[in-house]
Amino acid sequence: KLSVHLGAQETTEHASLFAGECAGEISIVDGKHPSALVVASEPTRVMAIPQDTVWSLVDHSHEVARNLLGIVAGRMRNDKNVLITTQNKKAQFEHQASVDALTGIHNRHWMSDAFPRVLHNCAFNNLPYAIMVADIDNFKRINDTYGHVVGDVALKAVARCMAENLRPHDLLVRYGGEEFAMLLPDTGLEEARVIAERLRATIADSEMRYNEISFRITISIGIAPARLEEKLEILIGEADRALYRAKELGRNRVEVSG
Ligand code: GH3
Ligand code: MG
Ligand code: MG
Repeated sequence: KLSVHLGAQETTEHASLFAGECAGEISIVDGKHPSALVVASEPTRVMAIPQDTVWSLVDHSHEVARNLLGIVAGRMRNDKNVLITTQNKKAQFEHQASVDALTGIHNRHWMSDAFPRVLHNCAFNNLPYAIMVADIDNFKRINDTYGHVVGDVALKAVARCMAENLRPHDLLVRYGGEEFAMLLPDTGLEEARVIAERLRATIADSEMRYNEISFRITISIGIAPARLEEKLEILIGEADRALYRAKELGRNRVEVSG
């Protein structure tokens, strides 16, 4: 039994070869160095056929030539399948790296990539925008009263409610434990205020239910409107300060920075 590795022997096995199969055919065909490392994974007897002998067999027999073509085609097909599986896995990992597992909305890692791109686009096209930070009010109390499982359910419901009440081109991420950040492109301050108010009111009006338990949740929102040449961290900081003020002024409200 032979084990094929594409890199060093420590890399994961690419394929296994069993009795009757062959290795080295690609090097024979193109006359170059081996493209893979082939090692015996258990005591194995190998018959070595010199390159000259292979070519002379090919020259004398169409059957041998066809056989060799068949082997090379089989290798290509197998490699393509491996490539497809690898690409699918890569896409799956990329998705996992950018999406929050609990709420299903994008995470902070994704934000650091997507937000600056959209901010840059807005600046380039001279469009207004608004950054908003939302935080669930007294969420610790929900956890303390009903437990973490119910807290998680509520967190998911709030995330879904926000996603449903934003426009398709608005960006929403879970920024921290029970905090969300939003970027509203092509949105002036007054429009942003209306959107934030709609989010706040919709969540405040929804009843959260879990088995026999039912309760309400409110959120506070801080808004940072567009400024000339601002970095994401500065805008988030501004929105955070406005959020802090909303908390101080009694929660379940929207405040604008400045
Ligand atoms: P405030 O109105 O000032 O924001 O009060 P708060 O209680 O919401 O604020 P605080 O930051 O003191 O508490 C946030 C809580 O959110 C604490 C933490 O246990 C909870 N939390 C954070 N992430 C999760 C999560 O993924 N699931 C659950 N169930 N709770 C979480
Ligand atoms: Mg909170
Ligand atoms: Mg918080």
